[in-house]
Order: sequence, then structure tokens, then C-alpha cells
Amino acid sequence: MASVVGFIRRFLDKPGSIDLSPFERIVAEAGELEDEVRGRPRRDRRAGLRPDTVGTAEFCAVVREAARRTLGQRPFDVQLVGVLAMLNGHVVQMATGEGKTLAGALTAAGFALRGKRVHAVSVNDYLARRDAEWMAPLYEALGLTVGWIAETSSPEERREAYSRDVTYAAVSELGFDVLRDRLRTDPADLVVPTPQVALVDEADSVLVDEARVPLVLAGAADPGAAVPEMAALVRRLSRGYHYKIDEEGRNVFLTAKGTDTVEKALGIDLYHDPGMVTEVNLALHAHALLTRDVDYIVRDGRVHLINPSRGRVAILQRWPDGLQAAVEAKEKLPASETGEILDSLTIQGLLRRYPEICGMTGTAVAVGEQLREFYDLRVAVIPPNKPCVRLDEPDRIYATAEDKERALLDEIAAQHATGRPILIGTLDVAESEHLDELLRTRGLRPVVLNAKNDAEEAAIIAGAGARGTITVSTQMAGRGTDIRLGGQAVPDTNGATPDGQAVPEQDGDAAAREREVADLGGLYVIGTGRHDSSRLDDQLRGRAGRQGDPGGSVFFVSGEDALLTAYVPDESPPPADPADPDGVVRHKRAAELIAHAQRVAEGVNLEIHRNTWRYTRLLEQQRAQLLERRDRVLHGDTAADALREACPDRYRELSEAVGEDLVKRAARQIVLFHLDRCWTEHLGYLADLREGIHLRALGRLNPLDEFNREAVPAYRSLLDEVERRSKETFETADITRDLADQGLKRPTATWTYLVQDNPFGSEWDRILQRVSGALKRRNRGT
Ligand code: ADP
Ligand code: MG
Repeated sequence: MASVVGFIRRFLDKPGSIDLSPFERIVAEAGELEDEVRGRPRRDRRAGLRPDTVGTAEFCAVVREAARRTLGQRPFDVQLVGVLAMLNGHVVQMATGEGKTLAGALTAAGFALRGKRVHAVSVNDYLARRDAEWMAPLYEALGLTVGWIAETSSPEERREAYSRDVTYAAVSELGFDVLRDRLRTDPADLVVPTPQVALVDEADSVLVDEARVPLVLAGAADPGAAVPEMAALVRRLSRGYHYKIDEEGRNVFLTAKGTDTVEKALGIDLYHDPGMVTEVNLALHAHALLTRDVDYIVRDGRVHLINPSRGRVAILQRWPDGLQAAVEAKEKLPASETGEILDSLTIQGLLRRYPEICGMTGTAVAVGEQLREFYDLRVAVIPPNKPCVRLDEPDRIYATAEDKERALLDEIAAQHATGRPILIGTLDVAESEHLDELLRTRGLRPVVLNAKNDAEEAAIIAGAGARGTITVSTQMAGRGTDIRLGGQAVPDTNGATPDGQAVPEQDGDAAAREREVADLGGLYVIGTGRHDSSRLDDQLRGRAGRQGDPGGSVFFVSGEDALLTAYVPDESPPPADPADPDGVVRHKRAAELIAHAQRVAEGVNLEIHRNTWRYTRLLEQQRAQLLERRDRVLHGDTAADALREACPDRYRELSEAVGEDLVKRAARQIVLFHLDRCWTEHLGYLADLREGIHLRALGRLNPLDEFNREAVPAYRSLLDEVERRSKETFETADITRDLADQGLKRPTATWTYLVQDNPFGSEWDRILQRVSGALKRRNRGT
């Protein structure tokens, strides 16, 4: 009955998917070519695979043969259908264990044969490397090169990996490379080539679930140790005598007398120390132009700006680096964290840079709408190679969490007693740990998946199909490792063996072990609660019954589960069957309510995704525009041209003095510096704007319109500001000396991190709050 329902659901799910019949015809034709291709001598294997043959029957037959010879695996027809769908720019839904790694590699090879550079996007470093190394012989046989990137790869290794036809990398590494390139000032240092094709594994996790995750590049500058002394020094100066303020009250400068006093006090010659001039000016600015309780307030030991146009405290805004420190010194406060976000990019923004995207996952249909809306992608549902015979039982529903827990433990113990391997999916890590404890008090020895590294995690998952194993894991979606029946078990969390006895000698006959576990019913998947998306439920279920294996799945639910209390709080779940001592709920409405709650949750998540994208889209557009500008500056003489036009006399004078080449180089560095600096300030401004915008929503203004209304002119004034500051620096800086000493100080170190928890908070808020923590945690330079 349950599997019939499952079947109907799968069937009803399909209409969103594209028509496979043209691909199926090509694959059938490829089948007819098989014998002939098999007879071809090795050296001829690539013959005929020209760019225009990619996607034809000839192509399918040749790559199939290459896989058979190099990997010992002959791609199934359904895998080739998947390859053709991906080559056509679709996301394919192929169940767990159907062999997406191989299908993905054949697809990547196809794009590469067409002359395109392919980035094979993995969910973690371990899988990037595993897949690249596993598929390497296949690529080699097709005359293609492959590389991979990990977090520990050096810039040289990365550049090398990106130069290959196909590059495997975790999505975060791709993003961080893009962000780090964003700050380079020499074209020779760039790492990432122009994006062409992204082939995304676990496409729903990456393209939808993690789409909103911001990848962040943060940086810190030297706080400047002289600051407190400088504040003390300027405090002793008097207005009119030592310094003057211009009419608008916007600039302050030392008089000759003041210069004299400062030089004596510091024992230096200001004229020859432009760095010190900057420090003095900042201190003076803080002292003379900014007034406490007018321009800023001091609260909780921190300086808070008062936004002059809005008259309210601008919570997250700071002055530019040096000034903030100067004001803090003026108020005798400790210097606050100088780390700031230099740039950030969402995963969605990162992937949308690729002109061609395709992907693969076990569960794509349920996110078909998002894939179309956010990436213009369509889903192709590829049937399994062997029909799925997994038995999906209906949910077991209980009135209270306590009833549920008891029943869950009983079920685990009963199934385990037969030797059947069990995979338990929990909703969070805390629940996994709790369950681990409970199972141990019952004398069971589960393996809890809280592995510190991806390789260990892969080994645990791979062992989950071994006889007698109980594996407890949270978030099975996107884990990318196959569970084979009778697989090699790993020791449990405390180092003991799965049964608490000696591991049944594992090195015996793998096929016999597989048969034994299959006879027990195969892998049994138990969900401790329904996820807030049916797709995640399906990902978990999909771990059982791979490649036509026997298997089963069931979810335990209670009326007190967060899914119900959070998403349908006003509906009380039906009561337990009065005749049932175990608190079982049999009422039909219970199942309906769960399904309803899940649809509400999915709707809420989609709305959050949409909303974030509405805000980030504008930002990503501005970012792309700015980067285009930056590229022109980096690779050419646009900076020099602009400054020659803006300051012709200065340009001529400098060129005569030091030669035009040096002037051009200096112009480039000056403009790049101000572009990057202003972008960072712009990001800070937008973050603040977005924070504040919801207050305006109370004033019946549409927050998004309001945001756009301010963000667009802010970007324009950013460009003006870059021009203004560049001119100013060009007019005043001594370009034969280090520009960093003259106020053009770049961050002394940068950090990358991604912000992943609490999908319901404001990303910007969390980024800003976490910068300091993350800075300490990932203290690595570029
Ligand atoms: P998925 O990513 O779709 O869950 P994998 O790519 O991890 O699946 O492959 C699952 C298993 O199936 C692997 O052990 C792989 O070697 C095997 N496999 C894939 N394709 C074939 C094939 N055509 N013939 C035999 N084994 C295959
Ligand atoms: Mg996979």
C-alpha cells in the first residue's frame, strides 16, 4: 500500500520534468554502435569525438566504451540519458546510488570536448578530490585533463587546477577564490579563469538550500598603535592658534604653529612622514569636528554613530577605519575590532556567473520551481536502472514526544535484533547525541555521524549497510557517499564494534555479505521526525533501496514536533487512540496535518529565499558592474587615462619627473585602492540600510522599494567618490614612495568564511556580528 502511494506521488511529481524521448532515442542508437566501437583499437578511441559530435549516439558509444575500459564500469542507458540531459543544460534527478559521479564525469567530458572549461561543483573537499581521482583515467582516455582544489591548496596549486579542462572543487572554495581575486592588484596573481560551465552535484542542496549562504571575505588593518598618544596630543591644542576649521566645519588643518608643536611633541619631521600626517589629521578630525552626543554617542563602552539625516543611532555603521579608532581614542575607549567585510557573495550569485549550468541530485523535482525561478533551469527525471523496491511505510504518529521516543527505541531494538542494518536520520546534532545516549542505556552501540572530517564521514556512511550496524546521522542530504549492503562497518563512536561483539569477519566474500543483508530486508531507514521539506525526507529515504536493493523506510512523528508547533501552531493535532496505551494517533487528519505543516514550511522557506534574493540581486548587479570597471583598470590604462584627463598638469609634471610608466602604475594602484575601499564602505552602508529598512516598513513604505531607492544613488555616489578620492591622492601623494604609508593601506590580512547557521536571521546582521569571532578562528592570510 505504502509503495503504491509512493509510486503515485512520484508519478504525480513528474509533469514538471522535460521530455526524455529524444535522448532515449540517441541512447538506443548508441547501443547499436556498441559492438563496433568495442572493436576499435585503443588509439582510435577518441577519433570522431569532435566538438560537434558531442551529444550524438557516436559520442555516447565512445564515452561508454572509454568508461568500460578505464573504470571497469559500463554506463547504463539511464546514465547516458542523464548525460544528454545535462549536456542540454538541465538538472537531472537520479536516485542515490544510480551512479551520478560517472554520469557527471561523462557530461563534463562532453562540455570539455566542446572546448568549454568545466567546474564540477562538489559539496566538500573530500568528494571533490575523490571524484577527480576516481574519474581521472576516464578523462585521460578521452584526451582531457582534470584537477581538484581543496581548502589547503596553495594559490599555485589552484591556478594549476583551474587550468585543467575539468576542475573539481567544493562550492565554497570556488567562491573564496573569486572573492580573493577580487582584491588582487596584479593581473599575474589572479587565480580563477572566466566562468564557463558549472556542473553541480547535489544540485538541490547547493542551488537551493545553500543558495542564500553568503561567502565572506573579511580583512583587518593595523589598528595603529600611536592612536591613544595622538588623541592626548591633540587634546592640548587650541583652536585658532594650533589649528583652524574651514567655514563649513568640514575640514580641519594645523597652522604653522600647530605643526611646530606637534613636531616637537613627537620628535619627528611631519613633512617627511606622511603616515604620521594622516594619524594627526584623523585625531584632529575626531577632536575638533566630531561632537559627542551630536555626531555620536558612547553607550556600553562603544562609540555609536548618529546618522545625521535620520537622527537615530546607526547601529552597525562605523566611520572609515582610522577615524573610528581616532574617535575611540578620543573617548579613551579600547580600540574596537578593525575587521570588516571587504566583499561577500552568495552561492546563488556565484553560480549565476556561469553562462552554462547543469546539475544532478536525487531530489530535484520538489525544487523545480526554484530552479526555474532563480537559475532558469529545468528538471529531467531519469528513471532508475533497476526498479526501486524499497518499502516506504506510512508515518507512525504519536501524541507526545515521550510516546514517540519510546516507540522509536523499541523499533530500533527490534529491528537490530534481526541483524538488519539501520540508518537513523535525526533533525539536528543535539538529537543525534541524545539518541546515542538512549541507545547506549539499552546496551546498543550506534555509530554517530559527527565526524570531524569528510573522509571519516564517508567511511562511516559507506559502512552503514553492514550487518548489525546502527548509524545515527543528521542531514543525510548532500552527503554524497553510497551505502552498499554488506559494506565494511567502522567501529562505533566509542571505538567498539557495531554489535558490541567482535565484528563479524568483514574481509570475507563481499557478495555473500550483501546477500545476507539483503535477506534481512536490506537497509532500514528511520527518520526521527519529518523535515521541514519533503525533499529532505526523500533524500533520507533514498539511502535505502539503491540500485534495486531491498530496503525500507519509516518516519516517527509526534504532535509535539517542531514542524507542527512552528508551522501550524493554531491547529491541535488529533488525540491518541483512547484504546491505545502507547499513545498512537490513528486519526486520518494527523497525516494530513503533517503534510500541511510541511507545505507551510516549504512556502516559508521559499519566501525567505525569494526575499533574500530580491535584496541581494541589486547588490550582485552592482558588484558585477564594479568588477567590470575594476577589470578594465587592472588590465589596462583606464586609470591613467582618467587621471590624465582630470589632472593634466599634475600628470605631465609627474611623467616628466619619474617617467610615464611609473605614473601609469601608480594611477592603477591608486584607483584600485579607492575602488576596493569604497566598495567595502558601500557594503557597510547597504547592510545598515537593510537593517533599518524594516523600521520604515512600519511607516507603510515597501521596504524593498525603499532599499532600492537608496541603494541605487548610493552606488552612483560611490563611483563619484572613487573618482574624487583618486584625484585627491594623485594630486598629493608622492608616487615614488610606498603608497601604503600615505593612507592607501590595504588590509594586512584577509579571512574567508561562510555564514551558515540560523537561516531566519538577517544575513548581514549575522555576518557583521560574527566577523570578529571568525577573524580569530580562521586566522590565515591569503
Ligand atoms: P550517486 O552519486 O548517484 O549516489 P555514485 O556515483 O556514488 O552514486 O555511484 C554509486 C555506486 O555505483 C558506485 O560504487 C559506482 O562505482 C557504482 N556505479 C556507477 N555506475 C555504474 C555502472 N555503470 N556500472 C557499475 N557500477 C556503477
Ligand atoms: Mg553522488
